[in-house]
Amino acid sequence: GSLLFAENLHKGFGRTTALDGAAFSIHPGEVVAVLGPSGSGKSTLLHCLAGIVAPDSGTVHYDGRELTALPDRERSALRRTEFGFVFQFGQLVPELSCTENVALPLRLAGVRRRAAERTAREWLERLEVADIGGHRPGEVSGGQGQRVAVARALVTSPRVVFADEPTGALDSYSGERVMELLTDAARALNTAVVLVTHEARVAAYSDREIVVRDGRTRDPDLAL
Ligand code: ADP
Ligand code: ADP
Repeated sequence: GSLLFAENLHKGFGRTTALDGAAFSIHPGEVVAVLGPSGSGKSTLLHCLAGIVAPDSGTVHYDGRELTALPDRERSALRRTEFGFVFQFGQLVPELSCTENVALPLRLAGVRRRAAERTAREWLERLEVADIGGHRPGEVSGGQGQRVAVARALVTSPRVVFADEPTGALDSYSGERVMELLTDAARALNTAVVLVTHEARVAAYSDREIVVRDGRTRDPDLAL
């Protein structure tokens, strides 16, 4: 069965309709690309799936629970423990070192500093940025910063990673390397990846593509 699925999602912002009957499903360990033009509703879909935004109607189910019906506190706890996030930029804490940034989700989960930072350094090594652990995010390149962000998203071994244009601010070479490292690490953990992108080259790293247009989803693999 699906790990995460949604049916008939509607979401408006004032007079704008962002989602107009969107559906989605992903299996454990699967990498699904959400493609579509700018403004089609991709980010809003990701936010609804991750429990960050409440849809006006429709339901999201995660691991046998109705995410959309959970109290806020349980939904945040789930996000912290079972989901990871990678955004386009601005997600690392500028005052912390790269190692401390990656260790942060473990610290929040109650892991002691030494153990959290040891695991964080292992993740930086896997992402091939072991040498920048002591630097602050402002001192590293965009590609290095995104590798740190990927390490932070995966450090808790989440069951789902939500990635919204994770390579949007990178040149195509470092973007493809980040995608390769993200999808390889996710497959090794059996972590599902919801990948929002408008670039076919980025979507090529997925197992399956879903297209969003005017707030509605279409799965090109389904014969409709
Ligand atoms: P398939 O295995 O054929 O890809 P899915 O696992 O995506 O099919 O599920 C098909 C339908 O079954 C979903 O659209 C949903 O309505 C329902 N479903 C899937 N998983 C669950 C679940 N954990 N709890 C309740 N209903 C589910
Ligand atoms: P995409 O990710 O495909 O670019 P979005 O989901 O970001 O699309 O946006 C879909 C539509 O909803 C757009 O018209 C956008 O301007 C609007 N929208 C998204 N978020 C908000 C918001 N917080 N407030 C007002 N309008 C929003």
